[in-house]
Amino acid sequence: MNKEFLKKTSMFLLLILPTLVFAQVEEEEKPEDYSSWNHMALNIGLVCAAIGILIALGYFIKLYTTKGSKDKYDFINKYEISSLWVAIIIIILGGCFFANSSITHLTTMLIGVRIFVSVAMALIVAVIVQNLLKFYYPFYIEKRLKVLRYQPRISPKTGKPMKLLSEEEEDVYLDEGMQAEENVFSVDYDVWIDQETGYTQIEKYAGHLHALQCPECNYQTFKIVKEEIVKQPTETEEGEIMKHYQCGYCGYKARKSGVLKRQTKVEQSTATA
Ligand SMILES: [Zn+2]
Repeated sequence: MNKEFLKKTSMFLLLILPTLVFAQVEEEEKPEDYSSWNHMALNIGLVCAAIGILIALGYFIKLYTTKGSKDKYDFINKYEISSLWVAIIIIILGGCFFANSSITHLTTMLIGVRIFVSVAMALIVAVIVQNLLKFYYPFYIEKRLKVLRYQPRISPKTGKPMKLLSEEEEDVYLDEGMQAEENVFSVDYDVWIDQETGYTQIEKYAGHLHALQCPECNYQTFKIVKEEIVKQPTETEEGEIMKHYQCGYCGYKARKSGVLKRQTKVEQSTATA
C-alpha cells in the first residue's frame, strides 16, 4: 500500500515537472501587492493548526474521561491512530499555507515552483508520519493496552480489586457460545471475579483487531487473516484449527495450528418435573 502511494506520488511529480518547464518560457514579473493573499494564507495555516490540535486534544480528553479500563482499551484500539492521523494531515495542510504566507514577488514560474515544493514536502512529511503511526506507534499503544487489560478491575459490589481467572478456571463462567467463539475465532474472554461475593465481570477481546509482533520484520503488524477448522472436535476427540497470519508490513505469512477442545456436552440440569 505504501509502495502504491509512492508510485502515485512520483507519477504526479513527473506530470507536474513539464508544466514547470513550460511555465518558465512565459515568465514575466508582476509587481503586485500580495498582502491579501499572505494574510489569507496565514489565517488558513493558523486555523488548520488549531483544528488539528483540537482533534488530537479532543481525542485525549475523551480518552481520559472514559471510565473503565476495558472502555479505555476499546477506545484506544479503535480511535487513537486514526484521530492522530487526521489531526496531522490537517496540520500538514496548514503548514503548506503557512509556508506560502510571506510572498513578496511572484511569477508564473514561481507559482509553479511553490506549488511543487509545497506538495512534495507535504507528501514527504505525510509518508514519514504515516510510517511512524503504522509501524512504530503500535508498540507504544501495545504497552498501554496491556496495562489496561490486566489492571485489576474494581468490584462494584465491594469496591475491592477482583481476580482475573486463568483460561482453565474461566470456562465455568462462559456460556457455550462464548467458549465456541474462544475456540474458533481469535476471541479472548477475560473473566474477573469478586472472590467475596462471586460477582463476575466478563470482557471480550477480539484477536483479529489486534496485531502481534512480526517474527520477520519485528513490527507490530502481524495479524490473523483467516481461520479454518481442519478437524471438527467430537465428544471423544480434540479438533484442530489452522490460523493464518500475515504481516501488514513485510507480507510475511505463517500458519499456526491450534487445538479445539473436545465438545463436552454440557450436563444441563434438566429439571424433571
Ligand atoms: Zn513483517
